[in-house]
Amino acid sequence: MKEAIKEAKKALRKGEVPVGAILVDEKGNILARGYNIKEKKKDPSAHAEIVVIRKACKKLNTWRLEGCSLYVTLQPCLMCFGALVQARIKRLIFGAYDPKEKFYELIYLNHSMEIKGGILESECSQLLKSFFKILRDFSSLRIYGKIKVRRGG
Ligand SMILES: [Zn+2]
Repeated sequence: MKEAIKEAKKALRKGEVPVGAILVDEKGNILARGYNIKEKKKDPSAHAEIVVIRKACKKLNTWRLEGCSLYVTLQPCLMCFGALVQARIKRLIFGAYDPKEKFYELIYLNHSMEIKGGILESECSQLLKSFFKILRDFSSLRIYGKIKVRRGG
């Protein structure tokens, strides 16, 4: 999870929502690392999980990631969870919980994937909180800027 947090910090530095992910094989070797690049790619599917799945599939030249574990700093959304299932990922380990993702209640009952949440949770969620605080501060600055321009004109 520490490696996934490092990736999330890279996203933060680039002005992306700070979510990072790592994919490891059965032996614990890192196959791929990545972070959310939705803004950069202008792609709504460029979540950290999708980024690492794509990298690992390309590297291994297969869409089957059986036996692999995905570490991600935020509980995956429905789209990413679907991709994990499609890639046959064995284990999902995430940091911060996302209360928006209600579908997990169903999955915990019906799915065979091992899911573990809340790993280094405070560190993972703190990154997201600081990002959204910066955004809020920034947007209030912009509003101030507009008022200033109006006064000047
Ligand atoms: Zn996602």
